[in-house]
Amino acid sequence: MNWHQSPISMLAKALEAKEVSSTELASYFLSRIKAGKRWNAYLDINPGLTLEQASLADELRAAGKAGKLTGIPVAHKDVFVTRGWKSTAASKMLTDYQSPFDAAVVERLGMPSEHNPHGAGMVCLGKANMDEFAMGSSNENSAFGAVLNPWNSECVAGGSSGGSAAAVAAGLAPIATGTDTGGSIRQPAALCGLTGIKPSYGRVSRYGMIAYASSLDQAGPIGKTAEDCALLLSAMSFHDPRDSTSLADSGEDYGRYLNAAWDASGAAAKPLHGLRIGLPSEFFAEGLSNAVAKSVQAGANQLQELGATLVEVSLPKTKLSIPVYYVLAPAEASSNLSRFDGVRYGHRASEYRDLSEMYKRSRTEGFGAEVKRRILIGSYVLSHGYYDAYYLQAQRIRRIIAADFQAAFSKCDLILGPVTPDVAWKLGEKSKDPLQMYLADIYTLSTNLAGLPAMSVPCGFSQNLPIGMQLIGNYFSEARLLQIAHQFQQTTDWHLRQPSEVL
Ligand code: GLN
Repeated sequence: MNWHQSPISMLAKALEAKEVSSTELASYFLSRIKAGKRWNAYLDINPGLTLEQASLADELRAAGKAGKLTGIPVAHKDVFVTRGWKSTAASKMLTDYQSPFDAAVVERLGMPSEHNPHGAGMVCLGKANMDEFAMGSSNENSAFGAVLNPWNSECVAGGSSGGSAAAVAAGLAPIATGTDTGGSIRQPAALCGLTGIKPSYGRVSRYGMIAYASSLDQAGPIGKTAEDCALLLSAMSFHDPRDSTSLADSGEDYGRYLNAAWDASGAAAKPLHGLRIGLPSEFFAEGLSNAVAKSVQAGANQLQELGATLVEVSLPKTKLSIPVYYVLAPAEASSNLSRFDGVRYGHRASEYRDLSEMYKRSRTEGFGAEVKRRILIGSYVLSHGYYDAYYLQAQRIRRIIAADFQAAFSKCDLILGPVTPDVAWKLGEKSKDPLQMYLADIYTLSTNLAGLPAMSVPCGFSQNLPIGMQLIGNYFSEARLLQIAHQFQQTTDWHLRQPSEVL
């Protein structure tokens, strides 16, 4: 059986029907991970512990205590701290760091126990590579080497959750977790032909997630289908008192509308009848490649076939999302990363004369170039005299960007556009020029600034590289977004294609 080609919804059925055991599935994926090292998708594996969890999952099933996800393997982005695996955030600063506890997401998806009664029983395959401290759009900023795109190993996998995306695309995990501060779930999902969702801010606990920019960071799944994302998101979101921004009522079944019609009251023959989809003119302007524009438009037309109406909307401040984000995210990062000083956390230089030199050398040696750049920018915009001019100004525009979305949502139920300006680019092509790299985030940043949920759904190919379309919903509309993506996937097969390098 080619288990790596099955969505987790099918794996769940196969496990339930006893066609395969958790242990067999875990061994299957572990041997694929070994054979698929060239993509550099994983930073740490621990086969002994993976198989231990798998056998526990088999025992739970035998005892009639299995839930929907029990025994299904999952890869975790290395930004989530994990007991038993290293937790490095792909930084030299945290080489060999072993966390004494599990992040909330890892705990919730992991083995149930007396201390973790709600654990979903999924089996951890290992830690996925990423951009250092989740800063990047290509996964070339990892201290442990770039991740390669399974569709074309000369191309980037996208970032910062590039290892998670490459692992799923290459069949080295059936599903993975990621985090999205400015596009890091949606962008690698798009560039690797996968489905991913960044939930509304506050849906998923940030407890144990190594912080990048706390007011923007949000965790979510990267998988093959919208149905798989609904399954994982339902298990990973809950109210967590350990995260003060965790929503009170975030635990819900995000798959509840998957097979329902949009307008449940009408007897419409078309499933999406009544749905108004807004296409922002600013998303289809200069800077977008023809190939991506064509596929995304074709995706919109397909949703129209399913009964939706297309309307034009405007998000006039789209362009400002890049300068605003690249002021606010580094400001928060410079503060969050101050704990990595060689004393409280992280690498310590071996030679130094005094305390101040110890800090200086430890941080100089431990952080990579992009992380240093962000710390410098962040410290600058927060410093006396510049705070009002940059930081406060950016906060004001952040508000206006959020208001733009609300104005658009008075005309439509869903916003549709591209995820990225183009398909995956060649390794090294943008890494010399940080501004070129930041431009790749133009369509994803604004939803994080506003805190809205957004998805990436495969909708075409160009030069044999995948293209994603982005669905943006209003606050807390994840179940609806997943419903629309699922309906789309019932009538298209973009998400089912497999990279030929992988088969
Ligand atoms: N590319 C953006 C950045 O470099 C977003 C990264 C992310 O979402 N973690 O900050």
